[in-house]
Amino acid sequence: MAGTKKEVIVVGAGPAGLVAAICLNREGLNVVLHERQARVGGEPGWHPSVHGTPVDDPGLWDYIGIDCSEAFAEISLQDNVYVDGKPAGGMDLLMGKSTEGESGLRIWNTERGHRATSLDSFLFRIAENEGVNFEFNSFFKEDDIRNAPPGTILATGLSPGIYKWLGMDWTVMSGYWAYSEIESDEVTAAAYLGGFTNEYGYTASMNGVWYVLLFARKEVSPENLETFKRILEECEGRTFDEWKTFAGQAPKEPRLYYRQLILAGTMGGFVEPAFSFGITGAMLSGRISAMAVTNPEKAEREFKRFTGGIPAHMARKRKPGYAPTFKMGDVWFDIA
Ligand SMILES: Cc1cc2nc3c(=O)[nH]c(=O)nc-3n(C[C@H](O)[C@H](O)[C@H](O)COP(=O)(O)OP(=O)(O)OC[C@H]3O[C@@H](n4cnc5c(N)ncnc54)[C@H](O)[C@@H]3O)c2cc1C
Repeated sequence: MAGTKKEVIVVGAGPAGLVAAICLNREGLNVVLHERQARVGGEPGWHPSVHGTPVDDPGLWDYIGIDCSEAFAEISLQDNVYVDGKPAGGMDLLMGKSTEGESGLRIWNTERGHRATSLDSFLFRIAENEGVNFEFNSFFKEDDIRNAPPGTILATGLSPGIYKWLGMDWTVMSGYWAYSEIESDEVTAAAYLGGFTNEYGYTASMNGVWYVLLFARKEVSPENLETFKRILEECEGRTFDEWKTFAGQAPKEPRLYYRQLILAGTMGGFVEPAFSFGITGAMLSGRISAMAVTNPEKAEREFKRFTGGIPAHMARKRKPGYAPTFKMGDVWFDIA
């Protein structure tokens, strides 16, 4: 019908889907965002949480056209890395440098989940105010995804099942997490490396949420979880009665298109390989997936610019003796 706005479907209201929806709505398209949960805030199986992430500030906000700095709090890089429970320096250490600021590395915390103070809620408020249409309790299953119109943006994160439905290779991300609400609004973060995991553990707090996660490729053994718990108690004086497991799936390599779909966020493989930082990548790729609707050639160039180094780093990660480091040589989401 003449005058009817073109409709675009976005599936998944995490940071990638929300940024994509806001960008496309601003381009004058009619955006319908489908989310399987009853509200924003993602998978209740592992949120509320606090994520730490490097951010190119203000480059990232300029790139996506949304200033999200209000939802982020910068952390100190000093004295917050532990190796086998022993203090090993600050996070600059992971860049191969030891002096704060020397590497230019800056790291922020952001809250995830359904609470009003989360990044998800921050982006949702913008999207809703600007006129994005939301369909909650709308779970896209195999047939819905297969039959989705060309140009549908799939931003379903680590949710298991979808890769199998699509016939895409996947890798497993799993681990244990615990969470508590605390009195303090302190912003803290610490990284834990050592023999108890082939990935790492971290703690992070802000907005009165204290979160701890032990990541692993494949599974975490009960012995390794016990070691991590002991280290946490020694280093931060915290214990938890309840630890929950999580297991998600992620693609083996970055990809902007698959069949008739545009992939965004975790689905697009936009995850920094060393520490699985995905927040910056999710927001960047939300912008790029929107570009894929309006300017596909530019979107492909931008996609390659940011993800080109990921496969080589993933290969390095599989070699014996690999230890996580921010210094990956060729993968970081610097905007400039
Ligand atoms: C436990 C954990 C800790 C992490 N810690 C960090 C960290 O410290 N720093 C960092 O940078 N990154 C971290 N990450 C990675 C980061 O969370 C992801 O990279 C980021 O959330 C990706 O955003 P996304 O929008 O692609 O997906 P998500 O945020 O996962 O959002 C996907 C959305 O899609 C919805 N959905 C899923 N399937 C369907 C369907 N079939 N139909 C409709 N809706 C659907 C989900 O409910 C969800 O709302 C962590 C991830 C996990 C799981």
